[in-house]
Amino acid sequence: MNGDSRTRSSVGVIGAGIQGVCIALCLIKKGFQVTLIDRDDPGKDSASYGNAGHFSPYASVPINRPDILVDVPSMIISSKGPLALKWNYVPRMIPWFIKFIKNCSKKKMMHTAKYMHQILDLALPAYDELFKDIDISGLVENKGIIYFWTDKDLKSRELEINIRKELGVKQQLLNSHEIHDLEPHIRKIYHAGVLYPYARHTKNPRKILLKLFDLFIKKGGRFEKKNAQTISFGEDNKPVIKTDLNFYKFDKAVIACGAFSKKITDNLNEKIPLETERGYHVHFKGYDHLLSRPVIFLNRGFGITPMEQGLRVVGTVEFGGLDNPLSKKRILNLINNAKYLFPDLKEHHDEWLGFRPTLPDFLPVIGPSKNHKNLFYSFGHHHLGWTLGAISGKIISGMIAGENTNLNLSPYNSLRFS
Ligand SMILES: Cc1cc2nc3c(=O)[nH]c(=O)nc-3n(C[C@H](O)[C@H](O)[C@H](O)COP(=O)(O)OP(=O)(O)OC[C@H]3O[C@@H](n4cnc5c(N)ncnc54)[C@H](O)[C@@H]3O)c2cc1C
Repeated sequence: MNGDSRTRSSVGVIGAGIQGVCIALCLIKKGFQVTLIDRDDPGKDSASYGNAGHFSPYASVPINRPDILVDVPSMIISSKGPLALKWNYVPRMIPWFIKFIKNCSKKKMMHTAKYMHQILDLALPAYDELFKDIDISGLVENKGIIYFWTDKDLKSRELEINIRKELGVKQQLLNSHEIHDLEPHIRKIYHAGVLYPYARHTKNPRKILLKLFDLFIKKGGRFEKKNAQTISFGEDNKPVIKTDLNFYKFDKAVIACGAFSKKITDNLNEKIPLETERGYHVHFKGYDHLLSRPVIFLNRGFGITPMEQGLRVVGTVEFGGLDNPLSKKRILNLINNAKYLFPDLKEHHDEWLGFRPTLPDFLPVIGPSKNHKNLFYSFGHHHLGWTLGAISGKIISGMIAGENTNLNLSPYNSLRFS
């Protein structure tokens, strides 16, 4: 496709989370006419606002691993653990759980690790391209991320350490003294850990998202604050997005609504088993000086990131769908866990619930729709959707522009669920 025909081609992108904003920006840079549609203000309350802010290019070892199935029962029973269920949602989760269990073999785990690694490896360079045009000073730190654990769980860490070694991911094993030297304010409950030196973190995901969004608008992009209901197709196969009050016709469209994407794809005769892993955060304002980089305490499955809002304590994987209310018990769990590491913490603020979009094989869906050549998907990036914003934008915009790529993109296609 040449530049002139692109200028005439219109693309509607539904969802102004980090996925939709990066896709819209990459498309407009390629000369398309782009309209971004979101029912809310960009980055207001979505997963792309409340996440832990990690740029985690190392995180290719998925959750679907053979040993997880042994750990799940004790994790559910433990009140301090990261896993929780909303019991009213369990019947609806069963088909997803069955698919997840089928994806926990060593072979499937290695498939996911390989293809997560393929895009994670490109994630930071893709952001660097976008960051060239915005001012990120004070918003992105390059200090790595530390995971630590207590003695008894060291063995369970060996699997991921070995896989990362195999994939060539840079990691630095730490003993307790080295952890203390790097982060002296954390209570010394740990035995060992690992530093991913090339990981970054942002001190404010929303501000970055808004800077990318502002650039999109400055380059001529349009934003419509509308709730997209359905997509239909005329005889010319062009997508028509129906919102609460209007119809918008485009040459091409992209669904990037995170965990909410399934509401639209279900109406398109697709059977994409997207679910949500609900996650929470609280802030402890004025304590960010206690930490210089994000840390994750693996035994309790939560993390703390120093942010502009203070210490952001983030965690929990709760299976409970999109409609159940925030669980105070999960918030309390995060608070107690944070105080376990930092006993001096006092009041917390900003109790937040967000929705990670997750497929049972822990690979995202990035690519064309099964049934409609002018429709594309970018969702299901689970725990890594913030890290994968820019690279997904690059891939989807390249597909829409008809560009060639050396990447093997078939593992991300929704056809794998047909
Ligand atoms: C607690 C927690 C911590 C996390 N930490 C990290 C981390 O440190 N690093 C990392 O890489 N990832 C992290 N993630 C994952 C990451 O935040 C998500 O994968 C990512 O934000 C998903 O982005 P998205 O654009 O696909 O979806 P979202 O951010 O959910 O955005 C979707 C957008 O679509 C809009 N929308 C939905 N339905 C409609 C509709 N019908 N019409 C119009 N608009 C609609 C919504 O309003 C929203 O703005 C974390 C997630 C959680 C919950």
